[in-house]
Amino acid sequence: MSASGVFVLILSVVNLAILIGIGLFIYESIREQEPRAPKVGGFFLAFHIIVGLGILLWPAARTAIAWLLGIILALHVPFLIPWTRGARSLNGAAGYLAGDGSEFEQMDERDIMFARNRSIIPGTPQYEQYYKLHPEHKEYDDRRRAKGGPLGKPGLIDSSYRPNVSMLISSFELPNFLGKVARVDPGASAARSSYANKEAPPPAQIDPDKATRIVKGWARHLGADLVGICRVDPRWAYSRRGEIHYGEWDEWGKEIPEPLPYAVVVATEMKHEMVMTAPHTPSVIESGYNYAKGAYITTILAHWFGAMGYRAVAEHNRHYDLLMVPLAIDAGLGELGRQGYLIADKFGPRVRIFAVQTDMPLVPDKPIDLGAEKFCEACKKCAESCPSKSIPMERQRKVDRGIERWKLNEESCFEYWAKVGTDCCVCMAVCPFSRPYRSIHKLVRYILRRSELARIVFPYIDNFLYGKRWRPREAPEWVAYPKGVPSEQTVTSESLS
Ligand code: SF4
Ligand code: SF4
Repeated sequence: MSASGVFVLILSVVNLAILIGIGLFIYESIREQEPRAPKVGGFFLAFHIIVGLGILLWPAARTAIAWLLGIILALHVPFLIPWTRGARSLNGAAGYLAGDGSEFEQMDERDIMFARNRSIIPGTPQYEQYYKLHPEHKEYDDRRRAKGGPLGKPGLIDSSYRPNVSMLISSFELPNFLGKVARVDPGASAARSSYANKEAPPPAQIDPDKATRIVKGWARHLGADLVGICRVDPRWAYSRRGEIHYGEWDEWGKEIPEPLPYAVVVATEMKHEMVMTAPHTPSVIESGYNYAKGAYITTILAHWFGAMGYRAVAEHNRHYDLLMVPLAIDAGLGELGRQGYLIADKFGPRVRIFAVQTDMPLVPDKPIDLGAEKFCEACKKCAESCPSKSIPMERQRKVDRGIERWKLNEESCFEYWAKVGTDCCVCMAVCPFSRPYRSIHKLVRYILRRSELARIVFPYIDNFLYGKRWRPREAPEWVAYPKGVPSEQTVTSESLS
């Protein structure tokens, strides 16, 4: 082959590789119902088709095209240089504490929005006691309680379409059955099923490495999409009980027991196509379904520890002693995002997190750095899309309860939940880290884990390619809700408690 033939071949191969990359980007964007990205991709596709024709049909342009392709490739090279400054998350959740950590205050479960909404009932001693301690919350809480439970009137935004509301009610129901058996003590007769020994079993002597492999495999087999182990830092435990689900009112306000030394932390992936309908009902159905899954996984795991002769506590929607996000950071599942959710490995904020405390010795995982800390500083997509403007827009974090972070306005967020009758999920759906873990998005995550430059530049590229404005996507047919008008399937009175 002549020298000019080789030149044409090289240019054509490079241009074809770029065309394939753009084609993949367009394909994924259409699959994800992205409104802007396929158009932007189409523009670049057309441009490179013209470049391809130029290579083949216009010899005089080949040198200029070679320069152009060379510059395009050269612009990508800096992103491939592995260098990062390291993130706070590498020190675990303690890395987010301000200064020496002495300002940190443990969280009282009585203060969380859910507990204030459903576990403080007007006319009860708890009501009197709580608002004597916190008069500043009274007016808001009374007003919000009048609108119903955490979701107000469930599914309101979709005319409370009955099949969908029933899906969310039925899935949120499952953890209710399991919360009562969250705490497992092999010494207690109630912990032993008819399949177990009648005597309290002595703890199985098992090598921590082997135990860790077994428990991780078991958790994945049960449906966990991410599993990590950490030593439990008692600072991430609630100080006092605030959520009462089973009428155990003497527990309200009591100190939470000292946590067990280890935790198995699991995350389940929320389906992309469901989350992307946010704030409509399919997204809250997916939340409910994942809460049910988490309760199922952690209850079985806790009882497995019990059968192995160790104590365990399942941490799920109907029983929390610990805060899940710091625990997940310590267990190497991800980082803290601007909207206060975990940005998890592979799935971003599109996960629900659960855990099991245990005293079986296990091998902890190391915290990870996904690049979210730097990315969040410039991105701000969640803050810009939040319908209640509850997420701070500033570049810099502030210190709150001794933690350096962007502090969500929980009251305005919770108010919006009542307005739409779902748990909103817009900030989860709009986050670039939420994109499906496949093809081009896998490559982007790979680069972000390794390149500080990518963490600085990619938020701007993301905004250019995908735009900033949130638009809910079409729901899968089986969960599609009627638009605009109330239907004969409208629910009139239900509210989740
Ligand atoms: S859940 Fe919705 S209202 Fe709440 S912070 Fe996220 S986007 Fe805003
Ligand atoms: S949307 Fe952007 S700013 Fe918000 S959490 Fe995700 S990456 Fe961070």
